[in-house]
Amino acid sequence: MLVAARLGRAQTRLCLALAPKSPLVLRTARGHPPNIRALSSTVPRAHPINKLALKTQEEEEENSSDPDAIPAHELSAVSAHEARSEHAVISAFDLFSIGVGPSSSHTVGPMRAGKIFITDLAELNLLEKVKTVKITLYGSLAATGKGHHTPQAILLGLEGSDPETIDTGTIPSRYAAILDNKYLMLGGWHRISYDMDRDMLWRWDQVLKTHPNGMRFSAFGEDGDLLATNEYFSVGGGFVVNEKTKVDENLFYKGVDKSVVHGARLHQTHSSDVAPGEPPAEPEPGQPPYPFVSGDSLLALTQKHNMTIAQVVYDNELSFGYTHEEIHQKLMRIWSVMDDCIRIGVSSAEEKLPGRLGLRRRAPMLYRRLMRGFYPGLTAPILPAIGAGSMPSGSISPPEGEEYTQPDKAFFPDSAEGRNISVARAARVVGSFMHPVLPMPPRKTMIPAMDFLSCYAIAVNEVNASGGRIVTSPTNGAAGVIPAVLKYIVEFVSDDPEKSVVTFLLTAAAIGMLFKRGSTISAAEGGCQAEVGVACSMASAGFAACMGATPETVLQAAEIGIEHNLGLTCDPIDGLVQVPCIERNSLGAVKAVTAAQLSLASSNVYSVTLDEAIEAMRLTAVDMSVKYKETSLSGLARTVKIPLTVPAC
Ligand code: SF4
Repeated sequence: MLVAARLGRAQTRLCLALAPKSPLVLRTARGHPPNIRALSSTVPRAHPINKLALKTQEEEEENSSDPDAIPAHELSAVSAHEARSEHAVISAFDLFSIGVGPSSSHTVGPMRAGKIFITDLAELNLLEKVKTVKITLYGSLAATGKGHHTPQAILLGLEGSDPETIDTGTIPSRYAAILDNKYLMLGGWHRISYDMDRDMLWRWDQVLKTHPNGMRFSAFGEDGDLLATNEYFSVGGGFVVNEKTKVDENLFYKGVDKSVVHGARLHQTHSSDVAPGEPPAEPEPGQPPYPFVSGDSLLALTQKHNMTIAQVVYDNELSFGYTHEEIHQKLMRIWSVMDDCIRIGVSSAEEKLPGRLGLRRRAPMLYRRLMRGFYPGLTAPILPAIGAGSMPSGSISPPEGEEYTQPDKAFFPDSAEGRNISVARAARVVGSFMHPVLPMPPRKTMIPAMDFLSCYAIAVNEVNASGGRIVTSPTNGAAGVIPAVLKYIVEFVSDDPEKSVVTFLLTAAAIGMLFKRGSTISAAEGGCQAEVGVACSMASAGFAACMGATPETVLQAAEIGIEHNLGLTCDPIDGLVQVPCIERNSLGAVKAVTAAQLSLASSNVYSVTLDEAIEAMRLTAVDMSVKYKETSLSGLARTVKIPLTVPAC
């Protein structure tokens, strides 16, 4: 019979229950059953439980009434439910992971799923028997997967690539080669034929019952028999689970090889019977020292132990096996990738983002406008593209539409060689002067905090939209909010940038954990409130913490940050993570700072707690139509004609 092998204890029990006499429980050399439902060609094909094994390759292709799938509109549940038994603590380095754009759920997660599948096939010694692979995408993955680069992510994952280490610059050419040459190198070495039209199936009107972001991979052998199949669910933020692991470790860490993951990150069994406002009881062995299940219990921990939120998260990281040096290095690495992302975004020499919207990049122009006058002696016409890890050149070109001309030496005899002078153009006033209400002459003003925050966020999201290197924070679509706010602190507020980076990221991580446990960070489950809304809340908390706020004030900042994003829908035009996503991040960053400032400026005036807001978000997500959950079926995705008019800012 079919053996549904699993890594965790729960699944092992399931295997035994289903197959008490089965000799076919497949286990790896390490003794773990692999994270895959493996089928052997020696399995009796008529066995009633082994229904997937009955399918031939052709049957799989023709399958239009999938028994494991339901119509998309029937799935409304958010996976996070009230009665969860595990605590909220995961590693901050699973929440903030380095990946590739444009989407954590539709790009990073699927790439990781592809790699997990191929790794398991190799462990089962099935890889070299594979002749074809079928990939079926369901629900949101099918609806917006093309715009979110899901096909290339899965295929390159099947070729053995990992979102953290893949050379992002090679993705388009590798994908094009697969399509043109019609073959895949499974695991990087086993060549099979692959035809996109034949082998990738799009079930946008159906979802698998576990989650709207479902995908099924099936591997077939020489004679067309199914060798192995598994379903994966990309549940947001790059986390991947499957039907059998949804209560197991993959929900809590990102990785492929379980053997290298510290045990405390794999299992979360800590109490759910914690009274509101009370810290959990003493942690179980192997559990983090400061487990929390809610904002209230996190606050109680900080009060009981006289710690900041960042300190609580830091000590929990130590329990995951990281040393002090490793924690510091990892946090600095995350910040360095975020900072590089901003720098690459503002210095890009490319004019447009990929995709048929033809959207023009704005970050370089916004940055030049902001930096006008900072380095008046520098003359480069445009900022050169800056590679990761390099330093900014400081060369600033004039804002778009404002021309520089060489000075007339007769009038400026002392001007330095090469100095540019901006020539103001006559402003065109629109409106009649023969009217009691006179027209307003056009003018531009600078509101530095807002403008820098917007520029930084847009820079990150333009890099994300073009498939660049990104820190998932907590998702890719919302990846601009946290770097923008942190960059603003580092550049304009902090006396000690490293300390600010550590405090900000660890505090923000705690808030992200609360949302992940109490609601969702997946737009396919909760719309954009789960992405930009959560990022805004996290950034708001991080900003407040860097201002020296008490944990109460930090949590209140987080609450304001989400409260005014509740109900935010996800309706990306043409399935691309561009409109409204890019601007939405800039507004999320501004809103985060505003929320923190409000919290810092007030005390004892709020009646909504963070836990109440998180629960409100969960309920809103449950009630939200599937059309607004990353399916591009309504909202702007329906009303806006393509191609868009190019925004002129
Ligand atoms: S609208 Fe929001 S949730 Fe949807 S893709 Fe864009 S950023 Fe992500």
